[in-house]
Amino acid sequence: MAAPLKADLLLNGCDVVPVDGTNKYIRNGALAVKGNKIVWIGKASTAKRQVVAKSTIDGSDQIAMPGMIDAHVHTAQQLLRGKIAELGRRRMVKIPVWRNYYIPFEGMLTDEDVYLSGLLCYANMISVGTTCFAEAGGPHPDAMGRAAIDTGIRGFVSLNTVDQGAGVPKTMIASTKQCYDRNVALVKRWKGSKGGTDRVQAWLSLRQIIVCSPELIKAMAEAARTLDVKIHTHLCEGVYEIDYSLEKFGKRPTEYLRDLGALNHYMHCAHSVLLSAEEMDLYVKHRPSACHCAFGNYAIGPHRLHEMWRRGIDIGLGTDGAASWGSMDIFQVAHMARVGQQAVMGTPWSYRNVMPSEELLKVATNGGARALGIEKDIGSLEVGKKADILLVDRNQLDHMPLYDPYFVAANTVVGRDVRTVVIDGHVVMKDRELLTVDREEIDRRLAERLPRLMERFDAMTA
Ligand SMILES: [Zn+2]
Repeated sequence: MAAPLKADLLLNGCDVVPVDGTNKYIRNGALAVKGNKIVWIGKASTAKRQVVAKSTIDGSDQIAMPGMIDAHVHTAQQLLRGKIAELGRRRMVKIPVWRNYYIPFEGMLTDEDVYLSGLLCYANMISVGTTCFAEAGGPHPDAMGRAAIDTGIRGFVSLNTVDQGAGVPKTMIASTKQCYDRNVALVKRWKGSKGGTDRVQAWLSLRQIIVCSPELIKAMAEAARTLDVKIHTHLCEGVYEIDYSLEKFGKRPTEYLRDLGALNHYMHCAHSVLLSAEEMDLYVKHRPSACHCAFGNYAIGPHRLHEMWRRGIDIGLGTDGAASWGSMDIFQVAHMARVGQQAVMGTPWSYRNVMPSEELLKVATNGGARALGIEKDIGSLEVGKKADILLVDRNQLDHMPLYDPYFVAANTVVGRDVRTVVIDGHVVMKDRELLTVDREEIDRRLAERLPRLMERFDAMTA
């Protein structure tokens, strides 16, 4: 008999839903992890004979599945969750919200505030099963990076990047050269390993075309190619943006980016809601990635996720941050996307179940990984991939009876059913206890900082 496989961690007795493109699952299975990689997947009965692990987690009554990927989040808006709604009950909310509230708020934050916001944001994500994120671009990205390192989450941080724009606070605008230099320096600072891990890296960022000059967009596209790193942006997110682009350049936003030489697989375009048929073709041809934020996107237009997914565009799901809708739960984003896609892409043609939940689970995991350009590393449970794994309670009344763990994982599981989270081979949450984060300490720091911060925000936005 061959010598048993030596592993660091064995998740044992769980149903395994690998989301590996096969639609298969394993009842009463097991996964072995060594270092930061998955080294073995099979039946628990076989693991008993073939695997020796330093530690074992009992996965009975649980489903093992890949971690969720939030492909568009605003770390520095975490403390604004519910704030605009609260404000709206007292006075009229000014439109657009991003320019009147989100950007001014981000401009108020210190390095320490953003670190705290990051701790809260990433702890929140882990608690609902998100193991990897892409930050849209905010203030003090190094503080975000430190918070990501400390919480154990995987992710890409990036800098708020604005070099023009009426109505944007002056403190949030930098010169074109400053924007470029700061972005490039950030990416270089985070390239490679930090403390033995490459889990946290940085991307370039362009907030969106209205607040970024064509010179900056061109220079950043060049930097992306040189540094081999993605650019996070918002694209086709509102009628005002389409109008701006048509009025100023005589072309639609995607055509504008193409003509600047900036439309390629390095460009990650959050939302991508208001695409013309020609723009959709440009996505297929030039391969920018995208992110569907189902909580908010249907208020903008009938997002064509189904078409984008079918045509092979690298698209994942995102929350757009806590300020935008509230929840950080990608399982819930997927459920909303299923209903949204049915309403806009299925029902009008009596096409039933146009995007089943199982397909949306693939978008949230495989799609997110592709959109972030790291599908070789994460996005499914496969031997050789990095160990970003969830153990999810399958014993709740809302999941019973259980015939098919894939159905349960895709349809009835929500983030709060996640019990245990492994990221990069490390257990960061065990039986819902966060192991990397001191919750009481976060609460204490929030109680200290939040009242003063919100007082200033209220006065500033009155
Ligand atoms: Zn956004």
